[in-house]
Amino acid sequence: MPPLDAIAKVESFIVSIPRDVPYLGPLRPGETVNEKGYVIRKGNRSIYPTSDMSVLIKITGESGRVGWGETYGIVAPHAVKHIIDDVLGPVMRGRDPGDPVVLHEDLYDLMRVRGFFGGFYVDALAGVDIAVWDLFGKAVGRPLASLLGGTRHPTIPAYVSGLPKATLQERCDLAVEWVGKGFRGIKFAAAMSDDGILAEMAALREAVGPTVDLMVDLHWKFNAAEAIRLIRRLEAHNLTFAEAPVEPEDIEGQAAVARGIGCPLALGEEWRTVFEYRPRFEKRCMSVIQPEMGHTGVTEFLQIGRMAHAFHVDTIPHAAIGIGVFMAASLQATAALKKVPYHEYQHSIFDKNLRFVTGDMACADGAYTVPTGAGIGVEPQEAVFDFVIG
Ligand code: MG
Repeated sequence: MPPLDAIAKVESFIVSIPRDVPYLGPLRPGETVNEKGYVIRKGNRSIYPTSDMSVLIKITGESGRVGWGETYGIVAPHAVKHIIDDVLGPVMRGRDPGDPVVLHEDLYDLMRVRGFFGGFYVDALAGVDIAVWDLFGKAVGRPLASLLGGTRHPTIPAYVSGLPKATLQERCDLAVEWVGKGFRGIKFAAAMSDDGILAEMAALREAVGPTVDLMVDLHWKFNAAEAIRLIRRLEAHNLTFAEAPVEPEDIEGQAAVARGIGCPLALGEEWRTVFEYRPRFEKRCMSVIQPEMGHTGVTEFLQIGRMAHAFHVDTIPHAAIGIGVFMAASLQATAALKKVPYHEYQHSIFDKNLRFVTGDMACADGAYTVPTGAGIGVEPQEAVFDFVIG
């Protein structure tokens, strides 16, 4: 069979969009921005950029048709860009975007014997995979969800993620504001709970009332016993799920927490492939998974989501820093899965950057609208290329 539109060119662009307030909220005492624009958050010992950085991928078919992808560029984006430009792009030329899974498997195989089956390599794969699926969808004139089995959910409930304000009172006020806008789920970040996680949970519950879903991101801060004790106490305030309480490598700890608490445990934003998910499913480490499209790409996201279904685990996808391209892909793939109670909504990123993409993707009144155009349903606006740094 002739290719739908053979891949002629693969390009990548590092985008860095300034923001007024850094991700996770204003800088705390002792937190400073270094010469590369990064800040280390004391609450979770992790490094963050002070701008919104991601890597865009543009794939052009022989017809001139273009597919767009985006991947994680949150820190050291040049690593991902170099892998795309040096390794993946040249191999992809001439390949058929109508074979996205075969192409993804072939690219994954290129570096596996050297141990590159995660990290920056798979982030780069994720970005090009999204672009290939987008080109496929555009070539056949169908939205991505339709290619993945069908649009089961044209809208997806969104939970508000993070309350980036300096004081607990301001964070409670912001939570109430979101509830007033029709959102029924809110997650707070333990890394920013200066008054204590339990105090923050109690204050938020008091502020929003009994019926709003409250979640906590525990930012990998605890060992299993500490996590169980803390989450048990948070459950007294009706916690909907607890996220990422123990270090990502600690599979036994994850399983112990899942067994030891009374509410669902949500994990997975940092994992990229079914090979990272599978042992956790088998050990019953979580009852909610949070795959991140910027790490997985479409092909792996779907495999992971279907595997979750087989283990009776819900999928509540993660939302990372980007201009909205991998967000659109995430909504499309989520729309094709069966049980998706929520999708994370990073309002401080999504709303600010929505002007940089075309299409009808939106988040309002507590739900996302899945974009309806062909492929992933959005494209970068010309204006975003003013912010390309490499
Ligand atoms: Mg998280």
